Amino acid sequence: TRTPVNVTVTGAAGQIGYALLFRIASGHLLGPDVPVNLRLLEIPQGLKAAEGTAMELDDCAFPLLRNIEITDDANVGFAGANVALLVGARPRTKGMERGDLLSANGGIFKPQGKAINDNAADDIKVLVVGNPANTNALIAQAAAPDVPAERFTAMTRLDHNRAISQLATRTGAAVSDIKRLTIWGNHSATQYPDIFHAEIAGKNAAEVVNDEAWLADTFIPTVAKRGAAIIEARGASSAASAANAAIDHVHTWVNGTADGDWTSMGIPSDGSYGVPEGIISSFPVTTKDGKYEIVQGLDINEFSRARIDASVKELTEERDAVRELGLI
Ligand code: NDP
Repeated sequence: TRTPVNVTVTGAAGQIGYALLFRIASGHLLGPDVPVNLRLLEIPQGLKAAEGTAMELDDCAFPLLRNIEITDDANVGFAGANVALLVGARPRTKGMERGDLLSANGGIFKPQGKAINDNAADDIKVLVVGNPANTNALIAQAAAPDVPAERFTAMTRLDHNRAISQLATRTGAAVSDIKRLTIWGNHSATQYPDIFHAEIAGKNAAEVVNDEAWLADTFIPTVAKRGAAIIEARGASSAASAANAAIDHVHTWVNGTADGDWTSMGIPSDGSYGVPEGIISSFPVTTKDGKYEIVQGLDINEFSRARIDASVKELTEERDAVRELGLI
């Protein structure tokens, strides 16, 4: 039998945690034959609720779930971690300035990065879900100098999945016929969902749609504002689809993209496509054997260039702000 994989989830008692943990334990994160140990990291106020969730996990009698540890100590929570899902974050509250938000999250992600550096397994893979995800990932990565930088990633897979779904609805295509969609930039309102290289059943998606006004005025804003639309409709945030996207992100990273397709991940830039080296920005990537590579050589038209640049500018401003705060 295989050695269990240690999976750490922060903010485990939150809404996303509740939608996430059962799917990790049932084998959807890593595969149907991979046993897991769960480490639930919470703040002290979250521990009791995390214990309740753990009771429910026990009651599912998942064959793949070996053990569950609950802690508010990051050094314990990340001990031997192979996969870390950083979900817990400080939400933006009314009247909060960006600087306050970044420094509150710096207080969470800097020590977590250090704890990962000091305690995680050598093959640690980190996904940051908690917002502002890209910059939180940068803060954690900067605090973990002994971990290869590329192991720190931020989630844009929900944006990617939302864009595929919107495109399928518009064109009447099946979701499974849509390939090579890309989210560029920040997981924020400036993100850019790019269909110019996407394919629908082998045909170029932008040509199938053939409607630039729809792209600019409907598709892009619908994808970017989908989270708010869901809060408006259900009176609660999009926790289940966020959890699903976190599962997809790690599953694809570990198990690979399909031939002829790619996915979107927020990753440290190597300077590709004019994105400044070091910022954590979303790119088209292929994955294989637990490693990812940026898809190279795509032709970026003017429509795309302006939108990528705008989102990247926001990311460099966030980086400069956390640098000024001494967080990186
Ligand atoms: P959720 O589980 O709903 O959300 C957690 C984070 O995920 C937020 O930063 C949220 O961002 C982000 N997120 C990213 N994508 C989405 C999406 N599509 N929909 C919704 N959220 C998204 O928050 P809860 O408040 O229910 O739970 C947070 C938990 O984290 C609490 O139990 C708290 O105790 C814990 N926590 C733990 C910490 C730790 O382990 N050290 C530190 C801080 C908190 P956004 O705010 O923009 O919606």
